[in-house]
Formats: sequence, C-alpha cells, structure tokens
Amino acid sequence: MPKPPLHLFNTLNRRVETFKPIKGKTVGLYTCGPTVYNFAHLGNFRAFLFEDLLERGMEWLGYTVKRVMNITDVGHLTGDTDAGEDKVEREARAMRKTVKDIVAFYTKAFVTDAKKLNIRIPRTLAPASKFIPEQIAIIEQLFKRGIAYETPNAVYFDVAKFPDYGQLSGQSLADKITGARGDVVTDTEKHNAADFALWFKLTGRFASHLLHWPSPWGEGFPGWHIECSAISTKFLGQPFDIHTGGVDHIGTHHTNEIAQSEGAYGKPLAHYWLHNEFFLVDSTKMAKSEGNFLTVKDIEEKGVHPLIFRYLCLGTHYRSPLNFSWVGLDQAKHALEHLIERLLYLNYLARSGGKTPGAKKELEAYRTRMEETFANDLNIPQMLAAVQELIKDKALVAKDPKGVLALVYEADTIFCLDLKKHVMKYDSRRLMADKRLVKLIAERQKIRALQQFMQADRLRKKIDSLGYVLEDTPKGPFVSPKSIRIGA
Ligand code: AMP
Ligand code: ZN
Repeated sequence: MPKPPLHLFNTLNRRVETFKPIKGKTVGLYTCGPTVYNFAHLGNFRAFLFEDLLERGMEWLGYTVKRVMNITDVGHLTGDTDAGEDKVEREARAMRKTVKDIVAFYTKAFVTDAKKLNIRIPRTLAPASKFIPEQIAIIEQLFKRGIAYETPNAVYFDVAKFPDYGQLSGQSLADKITGARGDVVTDTEKHNAADFALWFKLTGRFASHLLHWPSPWGEGFPGWHIECSAISTKFLGQPFDIHTGGVDHIGTHHTNEIAQSEGAYGKPLAHYWLHNEFFLVDSTKMAKSEGNFLTVKDIEEKGVHPLIFRYLCLGTHYRSPLNFSWVGLDQAKHALEHLIERLLYLNYLARSGGKTPGAKKELEAYRTRMEETFANDLNIPQMLAAVQELIKDKALVAKDPKGVLALVYEADTIFCLDLKKHVMKYDSRRLMADKRLVKLIAERQKIRALQQFMQADRLRKKIDSLGYVLEDTPKGPFVSPKSIRIGA
C-alpha cells in the first residue's frame, strides 16, 4: 500500500505544508540538543520526545532519517541575548569541578535519561567545542559579506544588514530592533542592541573564561547560536530538510541561526522549521530558571516509571501546551496499565485461537488510518485513539486476534511503550509457573464441570488472593495479574 503524504506545520510560513524532501526519501533532520550544565528536565524531554516521534514516524512512512544533534558545552549564556555568564562554566566554578567533568557528567546523564524514556540518541551527537574551525569559517564568510563587525570585546552579527531577520518569529526587523533596546547591553560599541555575538573575546567579563581558542579576532569562544549553524551544515549540508526545537527558540536562537547561515551563504538553512509547545507547571513553562523543574530521577523517586511520562506526552499534540500534574501522571499510569491488560487478553486469544479466518483488509484499513493520523502533522493522540478503537473492535478481534496484536506492536515501534515486553512479562503461560495457581485452576475446572458453581467461586476468590484475576472465556479460563507494574 502506498504511504500517505506527510504534512508538517512549518513555523517559517505558519501553515501546514506537504513535506517535500530535498533528496528522494532521505531526510536531513537537525535537533538542538541540551546545554549540559545540569540534568535535562521533563520540559526538555518533551522536546526530545517529540523529535524522537518525528524520526520514528518518518521511518515508518518509508523515509531514511539522517539525524544530527549538538551538545552545547560552551557559549550558552545565562541570558539568551548575550547577557550573563556561560552556563557550563558557572556550574563548573560553583561545583569546583573542571568544565570537562561537568560536560562529561551531564552528557552521560542526558543519554541515560533519554534511554529510560526510549528516546533514541542520534548517531551524530556533536559537542560545540569540537567544531570551532567550522564556526570560525562561517564568521569569516559573514565578514566577507559585510554582515559581521568587530569591537574590542566581541564579533557581532549586524541585524540591520539582514532584512529577513524576523521571518521565523513573524516580528519585523524594526520591531525587533526597538524591542532589543530594553535588553541589557553589555557592549556599548554594538551598532544595534539587537545585534548578537558570534565570537566573544577574552576580555572584560570574559577575561578568565576557561575554554578559549585562537581565531582571526584573537583568543575567545563562540556565541551560542553559531554552533548549530556550523554543526547542522557540516553533517547535513545547506539547505537541509528539517530543523526542530521548542517554541522558546523561535525568537532568538533559531532566528539567529537562520540569519548567520543564510547571511553567510545566501541560501536557506533548512526548509521546514518545527517547534514543540511547552511542558508547563501551573501554566508556567518548566524551566531551570523558574525553579519549577522535575527530572527523570525526580519522578522515579516517586515510583513513576519514565515510560509513564512518555505515555503522558503521547496524549497531547506536540503543538499544544501540556500541563504537568501528579494526578495527570497517575491517570497516564492507569491508562497504560489498562492498555496492557487488554493486550494480555488479546495475546491469550491470539495464542489459543487456533486457525482464524484472518482480516487482512480490515487491518490494512486501520494501518492506513494510523499512518494518516501520523502524517497529519504528527497527530499521535489520534493515532493512539485508533489503536484503542482497534483493540476494542470485537468483530475484528474475534476474526484475527494475531493480526490485531501485530498491528498494535507495529504502532508501538513509534509509541515505544515496550508493549510487547510487558505482554511477555505477564503472559498467562508465564503466570503458570506458579504451581499453586495451576492447581487451583485445575480444581476449579473440575468443579465447574460438575456444575458446583458456589464452590468454583470460592476457588476463584483463592486465586484472587494469590494476586491473579481469573475470567471464564469461550476459550477457557484466562488469568492475568491483579496489578501491572510498568517497567522491567
Ligand atoms: P536547552 O537545553 O535549554 O537548549 O533546551 C533543550 C530543548 O528543550 C530545546 O529544544 C528547548 O526549546 C526545549 N525546552 C526547554 N524547556 C521546555 C519546556 N518547558 N517545554 C518544552 N520544551 C522545552
Ligand atoms: Zn540550536
């Protein structure tokens, strides 16, 4: 069956567009990675999760995805607009550790947490500090084109020389310049308050900056945005297909990436810009600076498995805000447990069904519907609803339980909730390792054959007290655990 065409909301044009890759079915995907000065929080992971779903879903639709992610280990200041200190260096000083130690520790923590959430780590994970020559090359090109200038403190991008500066944010250049007047301007020799740093020199507040490299403008270190311009095009070329990140990056970070790359080379950086909405706490963005953040470890300590957070995120479209609450997480937990319970029964039917007529056509219709919901700007909540409908489709389940289960597992190559692993863990055949249970079931079957239902009911209660639920089905007794634990 042909796959449905993929449609994506492109922030650049503010509308849903048909996705047209640059090269056949191969997609270049760049995703801004974490700044490794602390643990990534659940808000960050909402972004990484959206990108994971995008990658997996595109593969499902037949694309080959070449994905690149940077690791910000230098140049990200506490204020996005060039004010404040380098986040990583501030942490290193506060903890009396080397920058290298801080970076290694939090990069490893990011990878560990991402794995717990079944988020795939891109094969190309590129730390900014390893690509300094590539960053310098873009700045030199901007000088050649008269868009960069130097002061005794830094090298800046001259926004007035780039008329399309506000295209991504939808803000005119004039408004952007006016707005920037209120910012903390740390260099009075800047032409314009909205100009942003490409390179900081080892002087003034950065005189003792720990990481620095030689450059045509003296020793120093790169501004935050230039790393993404350099790393994305090094691995994916310019232009490439898709660039993603959270909506907080639209106004400054991504706007500046576009300005740098397009200013330097006169062609688009990426064709599609996708942005996830925020993960919120009490209607406020979850952020380290707000002090309202939770990490993967925090929820684990409360007994919540990371996959429950993954399931929670699947229920809300990536372009809608998602509010955190413990109650919400608890509801997600119950819903996921319930889904697994249904699959256990389906698995039982699939195993004990014998030969069934099969339902290729009906299953294909469900698959197409799932693909279409994904292809419709990643409507994962609707895809999840289609799966729920599928497993509740009594006629189809009776006709082809194996086929239904296989299709659910196929959808789970995108959801990544480890559904098959959970089903295997609680498979009724495995439960039969409990000899007491086997004995009680056999006894009960005998008594039922003699139509002694009161006694049979007493045995069911005994089974219940062992932690199992027994249901009589047309295929015989089906046993499942009374409670399901998400996770290994
Ligand atoms: P950072 O490490 O701050 O550069 O953030 C990594 C990713 O997380 C970026 O794509 C951000 O846009 C995204 N992000 C940060 N906070 C949130 C949030 N509360 N909800 C959703 N995405 C976020
Ligand atoms: Zn970036």
